[in-house]
Amino acid sequence: MAFSRQLLWSLANYAIVNKLHGRSRFPFVLMLEPTLRCNLACAGCGRIRELRADPANHSLSVAECLSAVDESGAPIVSVTGGEPLLHPDIVSIVDQILARGRGVTLCTNGLLLEDSLDGFRPSPYLSFVVHLDGLARTHDSYAGREGVFATAVAAIAAAKRRGFRVLVNTTLYKETDIAETVQLLEMLAGIPVDGIMIAPAFGFDGVDADLFLTRPEAIERFGPIYDLRQSVPFANTPLYLEFLAGKRELACLPWSTPTRNPRGWRQPCYLLGDAYCRSFQALMEETNWGAYGPGNDPRCTHCMVHSGHDAAAMGEALQSLPTLWRLLTWVLS
Ligand code: SF4
Repeated sequence: MAFSRQLLWSLANYAIVNKLHGRSRFPFVLMLEPTLRCNLACAGCGRIRELRADPANHSLSVAECLSAVDESGAPIVSVTGGEPLLHPDIVSIVDQILARGRGVTLCTNGLLLEDSLDGFRPSPYLSFVVHLDGLARTHDSYAGREGVFATAVAAIAAAKRRGFRVLVNTTLYKETDIAETVQLLEMLAGIPVDGIMIAPAFGFDGVDADLFLTRPEAIERFGPIYDLRQSVPFANTPLYLEFLAGKRELACLPWSTPTRNPRGWRQPCYLLGDAYCRSFQALMEETNWGAYGPGNDPRCTHCMVHSGHDAAAMGEALQSLPTLWRLLTWVLS
């Protein structure tokens, strides 16, 4: 199973309690970026371009990370970046988030993972999420360095041997060869990894626009991947997979995955950085949420990224008993 039952039950319980309290906007996943520094410069990454613009302001302290966790109250913390394993206090940050009863998904390019495993302890609340965008030649070309794929796959195997939960995050680009992606997913299912998150890349400003799929292109490419849903352990909800396959609409809920990084609380979402707010409360209260999402902001037109849309599946489940039942059976399956 992609996420442990314990973590998914915590998430469901949290959502139901918030709904019963009449809250209409509350975060599901805090995107915490302890550092914007990275040991790669991947072709489709928007963060490294932002860091270039302001290299001085690159890391959060342990106290700032924990304060963000407490402020948001989100039951899952996605520790991302930059490369979080470059942060000198990453083990302490993760341990103290886990001690607060939150789930942690630590997103990494995998280069430092195997050497970092000694610092962590396996837990149903902790998953490593390794980014892989293709088989060796393709992934290394996006990553801009030979050997990245081999190192990441070796780290996945090492983490699995040592009892850690490991997910993989795969991004689709315009040049993605879907037959190769199918091969990659089948290889990962054979290891086996605990789950695979998949999404089309977001078209960041300042990155070569030819890299990114339009929404119709993404839907067309996703068909053969959707057909693998019985044999590949996708970590995305079944509703989100249907959205990627063009079988249903999902709204964007940008407030569901607030992002805290060294510049503050990113407004409005993980992908767009129009401004930074001084606190989580200011982000929630001062953002004109209705101005964002497809149909409201042209930059959102082709966005199908899970950070905005997969949480909408949870939002739909809270509105509809059949959808809630469907998600619960997916959790238990
Ligand atoms: S659609 Fe939502 S998640 Fe995507 S860029 Fe727009 S606001 Fe952000």
